[in-house]
Order: sequence, then structure tokens, then C-alpha cells
Amino acid sequence: MSTTVLWFRRDLRLRDHPALSSAAGAADEVVGLFVLDPLLWSSAGDARRAWLAACLSELDASIGGRLVIRYGDPSREVPAVAGAVEAEEVQVTGECTPYGMRRDRQVAEALGQIRLVPTGTPYAVEPGTVVNRAGEPYRVFTPFSRAWREVPIEPPLPAPDVSWAVTDLDDGEARARMAEAAERGPDLPAAGEDAAVDRWRAFVAEDLADYADARDLPGADRTSRMSPYLRFGVVHPRQLLHQVRSHRGQGRHSYETELAWREFYADVLLRHPASAWQDLRPLALDYDEPEALIEAWRRGRTGFPIVDAGMRQLAAEGWMHNRVRMITASLLTKDLHVWWPTGARHFLDHLVDGDLASNNHGWQWVAGTGTDAAPYFRVFNPVTQGLRFDPSGDYVRRWVPELAHLAGKRAHEPWKHEDGYQHGYPEPIVDHAEERREALARYDRARR
Ligand SMILES: Cc1cc2nc3c(=O)[nH]c(=O)nc-3n(C[C@H](O)[C@H](O)[C@H](O)COP(=O)(O)OP(=O)(O)OC[C@H]3O[C@@H](n4cnc5c(N)ncnc54)[C@H](O)[C@@H]3O)c2cc1C
Repeated sequence: MSTTVLWFRRDLRLRDHPALSSAAGAADEVVGLFVLDPLLWSSAGDARRAWLAACLSELDASIGGRLVIRYGDPSREVPAVAGAVEAEEVQVTGECTPYGMRRDRQVAEALGQIRLVPTGTPYAVEPGTVVNRAGEPYRVFTPFSRAWREVPIEPPLPAPDVSWAVTDLDDGEARARMAEAAERGPDLPAAGEDAAVDRWRAFVAEDLADYADARDLPGADRTSRMSPYLRFGVVHPRQLLHQVRSHRGQGRHSYETELAWREFYADVLLRHPASAWQDLRPLALDYDEPEALIEAWRRGRTGFPIVDAGMRQLAAEGWMHNRVRMITASLLTKDLHVWWPTGARHFLDHLVDGDLASNNHGWQWVAGTGTDAAPYFRVFNPVTQGLRFDPSGDYVRRWVPELAHLAGKRAHEPWKHEDGYQHGYPEPIVDHAEERREALARYDRARR
């Protein structure tokens, strides 16, 4: 009887899983393994730990409770499990993050004679493969996305028939940590592959057609909310693209573009691993570290309603609308003059979809140190952004109860109303017009 190990990582699903299909075809029995890596576990924050625990529990249930879950260094745990079941190989979905690739090299070495076999990646198009005519990587998004759209995508695979091995290799410690994490997390979306499919179908039926217009309105909440599922591979982007591309209507193009951003940032991170925590295009700017103001930003007490609504949504749900991610990031980097990693770290601590490539490059896009060609001049005005993208004020009132008494747009400008501050909402912590001038002056100095 031959046995292979399927080591799950960012691919917590059974459908359209090329590595699983390959494992099922290669051996009589498959051992499903997940390793809670102390390094990733400790850097995830309560929300993402709880979300991972929920996704793992669903995956485990979907294979009859046979998932082996262990806590420890993968280069010790994976060989231990593979050795105990006398596996001939360990199958994985290929990795392309700096840490993931390093870890896989170490695990492959520790496995010795047992082969580590990668198949596919968490992306529709493998990072590192989209190049221009000269064979070079794209440095900006638009030409990348044009070339990316031309790459043929395989149709999704069905879930294979798998004989999941029964073992006693679960270490108990990982499950204890998962149970603890589940208690500490925020309110989470329904976990698991079926829940993701339900959510996706509802989005396609109700919101995809208008996506191009509605995606920017945080109060309407009409984006797909696929990011938490994509984060741990509960769905694969190929599955989404396959359906989106058969859809008629203008939403299709916009949705593909958003998925292309995710793929672009993975590509940029692969080619520039240091850009995870350093400027992709260094700017010799003067930065501040105003701890009390940073804390007000973290707690949603800046006095700018749309910013505070976003930061409170982040704390409560572990998620924030994309438009508001940009506005809150702009306030920290441009109005408070804080270097982007401080904000990126806070987001990664709280986001259920927290992803190094999308998050840290999203931050650099806003800060003006990333892939965007002419970005620094873009200083979001938090008040006009609020009025434009939350014209009904619904989003602000939903998350900032101190402003719930201000009807319509009034919620965005409490300073204009006599009763604006009667429920304890703070006044703005900075003068936006002044800080905008200061940000641009610092930029000018840095360029000289
Ligand atoms: C400062 C900042 C930090 C961010 N941090 C993250 C993060 O940690 N993880 C993350 O997945 N996304 C991040 N994003 C991108 C984006 O905000 C989220 O992907 C999006 O809000 C998720 O909601 P949704 O699934 O409903 O998106 P939809 O609008 O339905 O988009 C569909 C999918 O496209 C991808 N996508 C959309 N916009 C972007 C984008 N700008 N960059 C990369 N991918 C995108 C996501 O995978 C998303 O699930 C960040 C953006 C900014 C500006």
C-alpha cells in the first residue's frame, strides 16, 4: 500500500486542488497534514488565528476528521509525519513568498530521500512568469495586467476521490491552540469551502453586474468579500476567474482587474523580496513617530469620521473596505507623516485577509514608495473622500455610534453642527490642509 502526504498550507480546500489531485493519483492513501508554524502563528494576530482555526476545522470535517494537525517547526514536523507513515513523497501547492520558499527549501532538505513535490501556486498565473517581450518583469500594473489577462487559465478541477489515511499522528497541542484562538477572534464570516461558494454565488447573482460602480461605496458593502477565503486558499482565484470570464456585463472587467492586483503584488514581492518591509522605491523622507496620534489612529479616535469608522470596522470584523483602507493609510502616512510599515504591521495584526504581498504593497501604493509611477502627490482628503464615497453617511453611523444622531452627510462633518460633539466624538487630531502642505514640502525636500 503506497502512501503520500498532502501538506496543506495556503490551499485549505478539496476542489480545484492540483496538488491534491496529483497526490490522489500517485498513491493508495493520502495523509492530510497541516503544521501550525509557531513563526507564522505568533505573527498572525487574534483575528487571523481565529480565521485559520475556523478554516482548518471545516477542512478537517470535510475529510471525516482525518486531518493531522501539528504544532511546531515544519522542518521537524513534516519529516516526522512523512517518516511515520513511510510516505514516498510530500505533495504541496508551490509557494512564492520569501518565507514560504525558504521554509520549503529547509523542509525539502530535512526530508532527505522523501521528495517534496510542488504543483501549482495560490495564484491563477504563477508569479514570476508574466514578462514583457524582452523577458523582463513589468514594473507597473497596467501593462502587467494586460499581459496577465492573455495567459490561458486551465479550467478548475473537480474534487478528486481520495482515500484519507487514519493515523494517530495529531499532536493535540495544535488543536488546543486552535480552540483558544477561536475564542479570542472577532465575529467571522462562515468558514469552509461550501460557505465560500455560497458567498461567491450570491455576489455573482446580486452584485457582479454593478461591481464597477458599487465597489467603491463602503456603505453599500457590495464587494465579493472573497479576500478571507483567498487568503487561506479556501477558494482559488482560477475558480473565480473561470466564472467571471463567462459573465456578460461591465462588472467582469473590473473584477478581473482587482484579482490582477493580487497577482501583480505577488509577482513584485517574488522579484523584490526586500520590499516586504522596505521601500520598493526608496524615498529619503523625514518621518515622525507621534505615538499618541498613532494610538488615536489605531483606536479609531482621530476625529475624521470615515477614518474612525474604518479603524473600528477593522477591530470589530478583522476586515475593512478597500476604499477605506486607502483613506486610513493615507491619514497615517501623509497627515501623521509615519513610515508605512507601522500601519502595515497594525493591519496585518488585525486583518483576517492579512497578506504580506497585498497588504505591504497596498500600503506602499498609498505611501508613494511602491509600484505606482506618480503617487506621492495623492494625499487623500479624509472629509471629501467620506462625503463622496459614503454620501448617505450610513457607513460612518454603522461604526461610530457617537455620530449616529447626525443624519445623512452630516455625520461626516460634526464640526459644522451644534450637537456634533454631544456624544463624546473627538475633534480632528490634525489640521488636514496644514499636514497636506507639510507632506508635500517633505517630499520636495527629499527629491532635492
Ligand atoms: C493599505 C491596503 C492594505 C491592504 N491589505 C490587504 C491584505 O492584507 N489582504 C488582501 O487580500 N487585500 C488587501 N488589500 C486589497 C483590498 O483592500 C482587499 O483585497 C479587498 O478590500 C478585499 O475585499 P473583497 O474581497 O470584498 O474585494 P473585491 O473588491 O471583491 O475584490 C476581489 C478580490 O480582488 C483582490 N483585490 C481587490 N483589490 C485589491 C488590491 N487593491 N490589491 C490586491 N488585491 C486586491 C482581492 O483578492 C479581493 O478579494 C489592501 C489594500 C490597501 C489599500
